[in-house]
Amino acid sequence: MGTIKRILVTGGAGFLGSHLCERLVEQGHDVICLDNFFTSQKSNVAHLLEKPNFELIRHDVTHPVWLEVDEVYNMACPAAPGHYQYNPIKTMKTSVLGAINVLGMAKRCNAKVLQASTSEIYGDPEVHPQPESYRGSVNTLGPRACYDEGKRAAETLFMDYHRQNRVNIRIVRIFNTFGPRMHPYDGRVVSNFIRQALKGEDITLYGDGSQTRSFCYRDDLVEGIIRLMNAPDDVIGPINIGSPGETTVKQLAELIIELTGSKSRTRNLPLPADDPKRREPDITLAKKHLNWQPTTPVREGLRKTVEWFRSIDMESYRAPTPNY
Ligand code: NAD
Ligand code: UDP
Repeated sequence: MGTIKRILVTGGAGFLGSHLCERLVEQGHDVICLDNFFTSQKSNVAHLLEKPNFELIRHDVTHPVWLEVDEVYNMACPAAPGHYQYNPIKTMKTSVLGAINVLGMAKRCNAKVLQASTSEIYGDPEVHPQPESYRGSVNTLGPRACYDEGKRAAETLFMDYHRQNRVNIRIVRIFNTFGPRMHPYDGRVVSNFIRQALKGEDITLYGDGSQTRSFCYRDDLVEGIIRLMNAPDDVIGPINIGSPGETTVKQLAELIIELTGSKSRTRNLPLPADDPKRREPDITLAKKHLNWQPTTPVREGLRKTVEWFRSIDMESYRAPTPNY
């Protein structure tokens, strides 16, 4: 094993953060998970609480953080549209003040800091698939802007702390990721469809379901961001991490109906404002610099996710917002 590092994961109790904590704890690092539990719950990390190299802090990243660490994964931010649109001003604060607070801390204690950015940087893209060089097409005034523009401002802050204060940074642009521990009431397409299919409810297709996303399994995603954190210091990103290969939302519904053996039918609902029509990452840079590409086919990832949804008591999860 390599050197043991002190690693802070903000948003560490969330869907991706909890899996990241698990991986880093397994690797023997001293892991601090910091979360305000807005869109998650302690049960996501309950199995880690007994580990001597894991610590849990309830804290909000919009307030300063004072810790001594070697690395920071800044994952704190509501990610599902229904969550980030619930209190859009808070979402923007989380991205911007959260970035300032972790960057200030990283500057003080000379830590390396990775920002969980997003494919939403590209908005409703006119370039397809999206390379990192594409500057995006975001509606600054729309309901998704609190998230998109907050994440864009965070990228700017990361670059400026890097240029001005020589903070060692990494920026990863994450594309749609799914897997066990997604909040069953987060309103995202995979969790909605699986929950609806298992309960025999109608599957809610927004629009005609022809819009596309590229779905990446959680374990592949987390492997990609750990590789970026550990990459040579001249590889700061931004780097897309996600799965090439588009699926229409309608195809996803059909696949989930097949995998669950559900009798649910699809029902069309209005398409939300500014919903991107197509999204697919160009992962040339991830392949070149990180030797990374996803290895889990969507079908296999969905099978594992369905299995997990079957194993939990969905009613014990509190819906973070009414928007699901
Ligand atoms: P998630 O909602 O499960 O996790 C986010 C975590 O951050 C939650 O535990 C939440 O309680 C916490 N949090 C929110 N606001 C906070 C605050 N102010 N202070 C402290 N903690 C706070 O979502 P996720 O899918 O695990 O996303 C993790 C990160 O990855 C987010 O930054 C998200 O923007 C980014 N991302 C995720 C995806 C995806 O498909 N899952 C895609 C693009 C980007
Ligand atoms: N979607 C849908 N039905 C749902 C939830 C989402 O058709 O019950 C669609 C949504 O309109 C979007 C896609 O699925 O086109 C992905 O939505 P999600 O909220 O998972 O994430 P996004 O990529 O839009 O942030």
